[in-house]
Amino acid sequence: MHYKHIKAPATKRIALVAHDHMKPILADWCATHQEKLARHELWSTGTTGNIVKQGSGLTPQRFLSGPMGGDQQIGAYIAEQKLDMLIFFWDPLASMPHDPDVKALLRIAAVWNIPVACNPSSADLLIASPLLDESYSYRVPDYEAYETHRNE
Ligand code: PGA
Repeated sequence: MHYKHIKAPATKRIALVAHDHMKPILADWCATHQEKLARHELWSTGTTGNIVKQGSGLTPQRFLSGPMGGDQQIGAYIAEQKLDMLIFFWDPLASMPHDPDVKALLRIAAVWNIPVACNPSSADLLIASPLLDESYSYRVPDYEAYETHRNE
């Protein structure tokens, strides 16, 4: 695989997702960091978006509910480089009907090398980063080079 560097924007496009038992924790986390998060463009799965709004007043743009395809929609946005960060409080103590989608979302976030926080401690560190409000360069797969190579 060839790689190239691209710039993450200063105003980040951040996806917020939480499984049911984790939703109150994400809502609290959003309330705690409301001021910082409000400077960025927020996206979420359906139910998570409602809980975040109730808990923090923030109004993420919403995809479908996770089990109905929302996780996959977020994955597609990541692959299209339309999201810069993923806060995903998945539940390590419950199995989900959409476990394959959860795995796929985490996989595609790794492929496209975006910052991911899967628990509040990691999210605290990400939101404290000086890079949150700055543009910075990071490495992604060079898809054009990949296609050229495959078609040779
Ligand atoms: P939800 O989806 O926000 O619609 O509950 C999250 C998920 O279960 O992945």
